[in-house]
Amino acid sequence: MSKKRILILGAGYGGILTAKRLGNKLDKDSQVEITLIDKNPFHTMRTELHEVACGRVEEDSIRIDLKKVFAKRKVDVVLDEIKDIDFNKQVLKSDKNIYTYDYLVIGAGSQPTFFGIKGAKEHTFPLWNYEDAVKLKEHILHMFRKAVKETDKVKRKKMLTFVVVGGGFTGVEMMGELGEWKDRLCEDFYLDNEEVKLCLVDASPRIIPTYPEHLMKKAVERLHKLGVEVITGAGITEVSEDYVILGDKGRIGANTVVWAAGVEGGNILEKMELEQKGRKRIVVNDKLQTTDCENVYVVGDNIFYIVEGEERPVPQMVENAKFSAKLVTENICRDLKGEKKKSYKPSFHGSLLCIGSRYGLAHLGLPGKFFAVQGFLAMFMKHAVNLLYFLSVAGFNKCWTYLLDEFVHINDNRSIVGGTFARLSPNFWLVPLRIYIGALWLQHGLQNMIMGEIAVGICLILGLFTAVSAIASIGMSVVLSNSAIGSMGYIAASIALLSGAGRTLGLDYYVLPIFKKVWKKIGIVKKHYLYVD
Ligand SMILES: Cc1cc2nc3c(=O)[nH]c(=O)nc-3n(C[C@H](O)[C@H](O)[C@H](O)COP(=O)(O)OP(=O)(O)OC[C@H]3O[C@@H](n4cnc5c(N)ncnc54)[C@H](O)[C@@H]3O)c2cc1C
Repeated sequence: MSKKRILILGAGYGGILTAKRLGNKLDKDSQVEITLIDKNPFHTMRTELHEVACGRVEEDSIRIDLKKVFAKRKVDVVLDEIKDIDFNKQVLKSDKNIYTYDYLVIGAGSQPTFFGIKGAKEHTFPLWNYEDAVKLKEHILHMFRKAVKETDKVKRKKMLTFVVVGGGFTGVEMMGELGEWKDRLCEDFYLDNEEVKLCLVDASPRIIPTYPEHLMKKAVERLHKLGVEVITGAGITEVSEDYVILGDKGRIGANTVVWAAGVEGGNILEKMELEQKGRKRIVVNDKLQTTDCENVYVVGDNIFYIVEGEERPVPQMVENAKFSAKLVTENICRDLKGEKKKSYKPSFHGSLLCIGSRYGLAHLGLPGKFFAVQGFLAMFMKHAVNLLYFLSVAGFNKCWTYLLDEFVHINDNRSIVGGTFARLSPNFWLVPLRIYIGALWLQHGLQNMIMGEIAVGICLILGLFTAVSAIASIGMSVVLSNSAIGSMGYIAASIALLSGAGRTLGLDYYVLPIFKKVWKKIGIVKKHYLYVD
């Protein structure tokens, strides 16, 4: 009997999870071959693209190497771009290769759609894939670099005006992130914050249409706080290199227009002779098989399927990709065994939205029982959801690097816990030592009623003015060199505390930035540069 070949097109959320599940389930089945084909050698965490576009995380942090994911597993990863599919002959064609299949899983995802608006495709920056995010980040930096040297006021204003079209999740997340990043950019490029203009534009009367009114208002409030102007009811009619026309709502001069206004099926969908609806989505039955070929299944964004009792097709979101991957795996395995297939009955749990690195909104629950979460808790949930996803795709290693990327390798305190664990405060490990030395001085001071020792002890325990307290601790140890507390060990420990040991789990984290800000404003300090930036 010849081997059954299962081909999975696209290593997005739907494709990668299907491949992992099939690989696990059919691991011991020597009669089955599984191949995952993608035009990129990596899986992209699309939900975090805005973080790369706005310099919060390193570019590499949103990519997962497919070869690593499937190392020593029953899935062959092939790097290739499929250009055509012949469903009669059961083959996929690229420029150089032909791949035959017995079962095909289509998970080729979406791409931005421009609705034929004049200039939109040519002059806007989409935010859909890894390259888009990197390109957008470089463009934003380029605009700031250029603007700082531009003396023509009109030109400078256009360089510093950033318009995001589309008030859905992608647009709001992008604007939230840019609102946060602009402060750092202004500082680095010697610009006044007031010069930067951020506009979020949507044709609908409100943003985030899937969220209830009160959550939408919270999002708008937060965006305003970050300096973003929200313009609704403004359908874009034209975009050019340096302006965007908002229908009858006027025009904004801007060299940067980000397009987050909607998606359609990727290019390959156009070549597929399969029944399609709703911006190039493939019509499937309740088993997630295409209506034209029963050995062709669809996962993720490419699915057009309306669940019984619902009015709209399943959402183009990660949860749909996950659920469909699970069902398609199950149904292919059942088909191989000649068993009855299962129906797709997803129950979606809502969505999470982050506006910058420190504030999130969530609308979660089960049909009919949704609740809202906001602020820190929503962001915490978003990280937890991501960690669970990484655990299922790339295991502990990716979870660890995600934590490092989101909490340690960050600048400007851009995380839900601020800079507590940031690379620039690598003093986490000094906390026990700081508290121990502080406790010793406090005990010694109380026993001998020496106020200086008590003060140093309390400051070290609280992590307040730690560097000054550590210097005092060194000095006092030298003075008391005849006693136990004056030993070389205590001096060495106090020296170690000099490197900002109070910034982690200490009051210095809060007090020093305020202190520095006030200090820098003092005339004599300014004149003699008595500050450190
Ligand atoms: C900025 C942004 C933020 C988002 N935020 C959220 C969020 O917070 N929550 C949420 O639930 N959803 C979010 N989404 C939507 C979510 O990312 C998609 O629903 C999800 O990616 C769909 O998964 P998929 O597997 O269908 O396709 P994709 O993840 O798009 O993957 C498709 C894969 O197919 C490959 N491919 C395509 N064509 C070919 C070809 N011809 N040959 C070879 N390979 C090909 C691509 O390289 C890609 O790897 C966001 C999307 C974006 C862009």
